[in-house]
Amino acid sequence: MNTQIQNQATAKKAIRVVPAVVSREGGGFLVHRPFPTGNLRDFDPFLLLDEMGPVTYRPGEAVGAPDHPHRGFETVTYMLEGAMEHRDSAGHAGKLRPGDVQWMTAGGGVVHSEMPEEEFLRKGGKAHGFQLWVNLPRKDKMIRPRYQEIPREGIPVAKSSDGLAEVRVIAGESLGKKAVIDTRIPITYLHVTLKPGGKLEQVIPAGSNAFVYVIRGDGAFGREATRATEHQMVVFEPGGEVVTAVSEPQGPGAEFLLIAGTPLNEPVVRYGPFVMNTEEEIHEAIDDYRNGRMGMIRAV
Ligand code: MN
Repeated sequence: MNTQIQNQATAKKAIRVVPAVVSREGGGFLVHRPFPTGNLRDFDPFLLLDEMGPVTYRPGEAVGAPDHPHRGFETVTYMLEGAMEHRDSAGHAGKLRPGDVQWMTAGGGVVHSEMPEEEFLRKGGKAHGFQLWVNLPRKDKMIRPRYQEIPREGIPVAKSSDGLAEVRVIAGESLGKKAVIDTRIPITYLHVTLKPGGKLEQVIPAGSNAFVYVIRGDGAFGREATRATEHQMVVFEPGGEVVTAVSEPQGPGAEFLLIAGTPLNEPVVRYGPFVMNTEEEIHEAIDDYRNGRMGMIRAV
């Protein structure tokens, strides 16, 4: 394959291709999960990536995740298809539609629900999206919860000069466009679509850990043009500041998430929806939740 990448020699090398494991979450919705699994526990500063679906629901069948807490990290929900409704203990509620992003900093604690939107539930349809968990540094684990909700039209879209690469910039920057979301530590979160023959050379902040998760089609990633296809995660070596991706001219194109972040290098103690630095802090989280100190969702 002619990669036509200018700085291929300095690009990060892919060191693993990890297949997603199919699992059921919340009220029983299907996810493809590259981590955490037996193959990969976490990828500092990231704790989890779930590809929700893709699944087609018949009328009345769609399921979600009823009331549950979070503490110590951020959940980033990005919808591709379908519609979700969320509600939480801070009195916050909203809908997420295709292309919308919700970046929720759980901080010291929230209780929320993530359910199919009423009309979507009634009519059925295709549900597809992502949820990424971003760890918070020790000093930020107990901050006040914060929401950044960006509708589809608010997400900057960058295009390469040859028109073969399109990047939706959720966090960080790409091809001269900067994200509107702020993050606690440097995070890059890009939704990349390469037409056949397209390529991307993405510079990420020095010292970042980086991975790609392929949504559709296939591509060749990193210094050795490692191939990956849908439902696979490509893990890059530490070091280096460039991630490369190429799609074959005769192929189907490649659509993927490119995600990178500065590792925290702090102890990770996780228990379901709580991720802290010590066992003691986990016990406190369980106790605070049981005693209603993370609040509850009021009926409307
Ligand atoms: Mn949740």
